[in-house]
Amino acid sequence: MSREAEIHRLIRVRLAEVGQIYTGNRRELVDALIEVGRPVTLPGLLEQSPRLAQSSAYRNLAVLAEIGIVRRLTIGDDHIRFEIHEDLAGHHHHLVCDECGNVADVTLPEHVERDMDTGFDAVAEAAGFSVTGHNVDIHGLCADCRA
Ligand SMILES: [Zn+2]
Ligand SMILES: [Zn+2]
Repeated sequence: MSREAEIHRLIRVRLAEVGQIYTGNRRELVDALIEVGRPVTLPGLLEQSPRLAQSSAYRNLAVLAEIGIVRRLTIGDDHIRFEIHEDLAGHHHHLVCDECGNVADVTLPEHVERDMDTGFDAVAEAAGFSVTGHNVDIHGLCADCRA
């Protein structure tokens, strides 16, 4: 099964668990999020998929966020952005442009992830803290803003 098909299957199951149906609108919303492939604002999402209606898109994003399918982010500019949750999309980080507010996904090499985890574990253990994950954004200027 492809990753996309697996994501759709999981969403159907999670929605059923809370007595909800995976409607065509919701599926289209998820397809748009997958297609964009980075955290996107609601206007950005509507631009990507003009057939989505703003009111229902917002409502459906809230439903999908509640069951852990969609993650809401407030990084970069002040706008709320949405992405497919890491549990489904895979672990990644974000490149945040401090000039235009653009946010892009980036996957770090495994050895970098390992080194970070080792460092975080050491710091956390000293505080009697047990680490379950990390959330690191990389800030700077995107290629467009540097040009
Ligand atoms: Zn930029
Ligand atoms: Zn990481």
